[in-house]
Amino acid sequence: MSGTLGGVHRASLMTPLALALAVTALVACGNGEPAATSGTTPATSTEATTPPESSTPAAPPSSAPPPSSASEQPPPPAKGKVVVLDPGHNGGNSKNPAVINKPVPAGRGKGKPCNTTGTQTNAGYTEHAFTWDVANRVRNALTAKGVRVELTRPNDTGVGPCVNERAEIGNRANADAVVSIHSDGSTTAGHHGFHIIYSNPPLNPAQGTPSAKLAGAVRDAMRDGGIPLSNYTGKAGLNGRDDIAGLNLSTRPAIMVECANMRDATEAALAASPEGRQKYASAIAEGLLRYLA
Ligand SMILES: [Zn+2]
Repeated sequence: MSGTLGGVHRASLMTPLALALAVTALVACGNGEPAATSGTTPATSTEATTPPESSTPAAPPSSAPPPSSASEQPPPPAKGKVVVLDPGHNGGNSKNPAVINKPVPAGRGKGKPCNTTGTQTNAGYTEHAFTWDVANRVRNALTAKGVRVELTRPNDTGVGPCVNERAEIGNRANADAVVSIHSDGSTTAGHHGFHIIYSNPPLNPAQGTPSAKLAGAVRDAMRDGGIPLSNYTGKAGLNGRDDIAGLNLSTRPAIMVECANMRDATEAALAASPEGRQKYASAIAEGLLRYLA
């Protein structure tokens, strides 16, 4: 389970009852997706990646040297765009329950705890460490393309920020895209794959078509990167929800990426390895660049 933005993640130590409730909620999330989401299901963004026609006009004069592909390339289309990355949870959360359990506004007239501890692999690799590392890898990939990137927390040792403040950081930055990075913790055997959560029904224009397009672009890029779609929640890797605080409170195009199920042995090994985290980060960055282009 997850939810720095939404506070859906549970503490790592769960009672059997809490586990049962969590699993029940999880199933409800997948089955309870309103049929109306099909109307806002993000379209695939493959057309954005279609290379231009190769039939370029007039060839250069024969005396001209062949163009250097490096020097002739136009500026990256995403140059100057602003992306806010939200690495879920934080390293100091588990030792500061009084701070992170404080209720904050969650949108739609509801409240949520300020923040949560997140999940971890069975071997103890934490979600907060995973999200922090992946977010930094995504940042590096985007800044190399001229994108201005802001993170919602400066390190992996602090507490919070609260979910409403994380949303506000994206709003204040007037971000072209906001991506909250998480990883799930379903203990049901066989549950694996990624899913992307978007606000549904949308509460403002940014949560409508732009967020749906962002969700579709990142979904496509992750699928293209060989990361399997979730087999236990959402539809084709997409999950419209109304209970994620950070998405409810966002006035910018925003999604939450649940990269993997950290309780699945294969995906836990991937998440705990630098190569695996780079795989997730590269795919997320590629999806963002397609969306921003
Ligand atoms: Zn999480």
